[in-house]
Amino acid sequence: MKLKLLEGFYICCSCHKVFDQTYEIYTYLEENKRPFCSVKCLENYYSPLIKKLEEEEGLTRKAMNHNDTLGPILLRDPLFLKHALSQSSEIHQIDNGLGDLITIIFSWFDWSNFGKVGTVVYSIRENDKDVLILHAIVDQKENFLESFLPEAENKNSSESVYIDQEMVASIELKKSTFMAALLEQRTAMDIPYEEFAYYEPYIGPTLERADEVFVEKDQEGDQVFKFFKACNKEGKNFYFVVFGVIVSADETTENETVIPILSFPTIDADLYRYFRTGEQLSGFSRN
Ligand SMILES: [Zn+2]
Repeated sequence: MKLKLLEGFYICCSCHKVFDQTYEIYTYLEENKRPFCSVKCLENYYSPLIKKLEEEEGLTRKAMNHNDTLGPILLRDPLFLKHALSQSSEIHQIDNGLGDLITIIFSWFDWSNFGKVGTVVYSIRENDKDVLILHAIVDQKENFLESFLPEAENKNSSESVYIDQEMVASIELKKSTFMAALLEQRTAMDIPYEEFAYYEPYIGPTLERADEVFVEKDQEGDQVFKFFKACNKEGKNFYFVVFGVIVSADETTENETVIPILSFPTIDADLYRYFRTGEQLSGFSRN
């Protein structure tokens, strides 16, 4: 008889218990590369980070002399947080480079008779579902909430990226070529074109954490990068695809940035396969 351990084993990151894949409450955070033997262990592991985030909010409020009046009231209602997360207007991900990935979701919406309310939610996500909410900040001052968001990735780079007229024209041409191909290949059952705008927050995560990246020379002889990512929005699975060209952000350094040409969501695996051509890059990183 074979040793059961040989079929695969994990060591709980929190309590250090050795367990196997059949363990009923086994939780494995694939993106954060951490196994946990229970939800309790997952929470315990992240508790110092939860405490740190609470402290940071407290210190910022103190420094700005701005009390937390809404959080204690609104966060007691689980429907509030659920609604806030469904209204996300910005999604960021921060990564310490050691496999710890935190998702930060900013939402700004109307809430019953409070008027405009905003939230910044820090969470550990897996397959675009929140596995653990680390911390939620509630406020009615938009600029206060923005101080808890990382610098927008594209804001800085698009300011420092110089794109000449020729490049703009070339990107426009590529866009219409890809758009024509997309419209030709799309099926009537796919996500309606009118809804594409709701999927724009997936551009950043797809560029940063693509499942697959392909590069192909187009008719003009330019390298076009194609990023693909399996995503989930409100329980529905779809693929997000971004086509882009890479330009140097700054001539003095080697910083490169992706200029998206066209991006779209799809539920059609055939459409995904249709565009999945060219040379596949492995270990692609934007840095
Ligand atoms: Zn454990």
